[in-house]
Amino acid sequence: MQQRIIGLIGGMSWESSAEYYRIINQETHRRLGGVHSARSLLWSVDFDEIKQLQHAGEWDKLADVMKTAALHLERGGADFIVLCTNTMHRLADAITSSVSIPLLHIADPTAERIKAAGFRRVGLIGTAFTMEQDFYKGRLQAKHGLEVIVPDAADRQMVHDVIYKELVLGTINAKSREAYRAIIARLIQKGAEAVILGCTEIMLLVSEEDSAVPLFDTTTIHAIAAVDHALGA
Ligand code: GLU
Repeated sequence: MQQRIIGLIGGMSWESSAEYYRIINQETHRRLGGVHSARSLLWSVDFDEIKQLQHAGEWDKLADVMKTAALHLERGGADFIVLCTNTMHRLADAITSSVSIPLLHIADPTAERIKAAGFRRVGLIGTAFTMEQDFYKGRLQAKHGLEVIVPDAADRQMVHDVIYKELVLGTINAKSREAYRAIIARLIQKGAEAVILGCTEIMLLVSEEDSAVPLFDTTTIHAIAAVDHALGA
């Protein structure tokens, strides 16, 4: 069978896009053997522009950037789209309405895994946009029946700042890891049975040993779901 072509919208940040590329190719090889690798296209943006527009609340302009990316991937022959960031799923509808190929929404395979593991109350860490706005939590709640717990305001600020000031630059800081550990512990105190790493760079900083409950890393889950879809599962 010919693999479907994965169309990646990346660069948000490229540090996490590199992880997607690695995981997708490793998983394809693990399943198919030989010297198999994934058929894919990557459209990678300039993150500085994205970051400025996000923090200025210019979501219409961001929608144009995402639509353009999706159109380029469709014209290039991609069979489906993988948007390599949680935050920019705020624009999932704008993307799907601009192309005729499907978008593999990051929240769906994540929620499926959580439900399959038997959890219902989950903590969520990610950018302030992801933790505070409805596009992400709302989908987990309304479509998947999960209860979502987010950190308090000071903790949300800390998580957000570490993402934009360190992780998107590939800076891994032991102090920040300690802060994230404490924030995860407070989510568990609030009743989280598991925690979603709802930003695609967090897996660079935090791993299972930093948490007393299971972690659901959206980068890995989304990348593996892309392989499932590319191989026709
Ligand atoms: N990669 C991050 C995420 O998954 C944040 C960067 C962005 O704003 O897209 O949300």
